[in-house]
Amino acid sequence: MTVDTVVVGAGVIGSAIALELARAGHQVVVLDKGPGVGFGSTSASSAIVRFHYSTFTGVAAAWEARQLWADWAGHLGYADPEGLATFHRTGMLVLDGGATPPYLDDVGVPWELWDADEVARRLPGLDPGRYGPPRPVDDPAFFDEATGRLGGSFTPDAGYVDDPRLAAANLAAAARHHGARFLLRREVTGIDGAGPRRWRVRTSEGDVDTDVMVNAAGPWSSALNGLLGIGADFRLTSRPLRQEVHQLASADPAVVVADPDLGVYLRPQAGGQLIVGGLEPECDPLEWLERPEDADPRPTLRVFEAQALRAARRLPDLAVPSQPRGLTGVYDVTPDWTPIYDRTALPGVYVAMGTSGNQFKNAPVVGQLMAHLVAAVEGGHDHDTDPLTWRAPRTGNVLDLATYSRLRDPGSGSNVLG
Ligand SMILES: Cc1cc2nc3c(=O)[nH]c(=O)nc-3n(C[C@H](O)[C@H](O)[C@H](O)COP(=O)(O)OP(=O)(O)OC[C@H]3O[C@@H](n4cnc5c(N)ncnc54)[C@H](O)[C@@H]3O)c2cc1C
Repeated sequence: MTVDTVVVGAGVIGSAIALELARAGHQVVVLDKGPGVGFGSTSASSAIVRFHYSTFTGVAAAWEARQLWADWAGHLGYADPEGLATFHRTGMLVLDGGATPPYLDDVGVPWELWDADEVARRLPGLDPGRYGPPRPVDDPAFFDEATGRLGGSFTPDAGYVDDPRLAAANLAAAARHHGARFLLRREVTGIDGAGPRRWRVRTSEGDVDTDVMVNAAGPWSSALNGLLGIGADFRLTSRPLRQEVHQLASADPAVVVADPDLGVYLRPQAGGQLIVGGLEPECDPLEWLERPEDADPRPTLRVFEAQALRAARRLPDLAVPSQPRGLTGVYDVTPDWTPIYDRTALPGVYVAMGTSGNQFKNAPVVGQLMAHLVAAVEGGHDHDTDPLTWRAPRTGNVLDLATYSRLRDPGSGSNVLG
């Protein structure tokens, strides 16, 4: 029997889910209100692939996904004529003062402990001084001398994907190759029952009947849940949060750096450029939004100065220009910065939401574990009382999908690191 399936959202998450469900034999229709694949929050992503997370499942998912990015053509199984997004292995340093990162050993992620001397030796352009806790840049104490020196944990297999929109387009092209259809400029406005375990999805351009539906609407996902009449049993949900990242001219550092001491992350970019983003330090206001479309798309001088001056503390040779060059985006944030990949109380209706600024890297794995979840639940498994696990094919780790449950007690994640 074929299963008609609607995926709402053609971002990197919806496209990855469409691919795996199409591979599993579903008749997939992807609906997106935008004009193209990956034009939502995916297009703004810094696309860093790293493994420091606060849960075993988070680390294991990222480690599995990294194998797929490194073998992108093999994972897609389809030669997209548009070309392929490319994973750049740079390594990543987390300047966490030399703490042992949780779960890396359990998952099998290679890592090295660097003391401050090793940081200075391996990254000569980077000052390992301890300046934290993070402060506003207009606080006179911001420019105080370092109070010590920092080491960190280095994962040599981390890196970034050079074109997140293209990565989503690659997944969509592979999904189309397996029969999925992408209908763009189609806004989903609600659903009605259309028979036993059958739904009529209302859209701006007519109805689509389906057996299974997945909400992968990114920062719009909570609002869409409201339109669909689901969410009453959720113990946690997500909210849109405006973000800015800025670009500076610098060939340093050549590795990705997460810097909780100053409250920023640094990511190299081809052509001697550096991307700087924020780690939500307590001293910075968070820009929660009622609706993602309320986000001002213009980068601000205030956030630019905060990010650039913090980066310049870490990189003493960095030149800070007077004008910002950056972009804005919107995260879809849960209270524990961990996504919700789950069924809902409506039979056949699923969510892949709350990606909290840290799930671009996991998208190919999210496609696989959502296909596993849909197959089991549609086959009669009660995931709520007997949570599923999923064995990652490439790395062999077993992921506990209760980590992503809508019914969980919030975990310990408190910023974009998850
Ligand atoms: C600035 C920034 C930096 C980031 N950096 C990283 C990083 O370094 N590493 C990492 O792993 N992650 C990162 N992320 C997070 C990552 O990019 C996101 O988790 C991921 O892209 C979310 O993909 P998505 O498909 O869920 O959402 P989106 O890409 O937003 O896609 C959702 C789609 O749903 C559509 N839609 C919404 N409502 C409807 C409706 N009612 N009807 C039809 N269509 C609808 C929208 O048009 C949109 O295309 C970052 C995010 C941002 C914003």
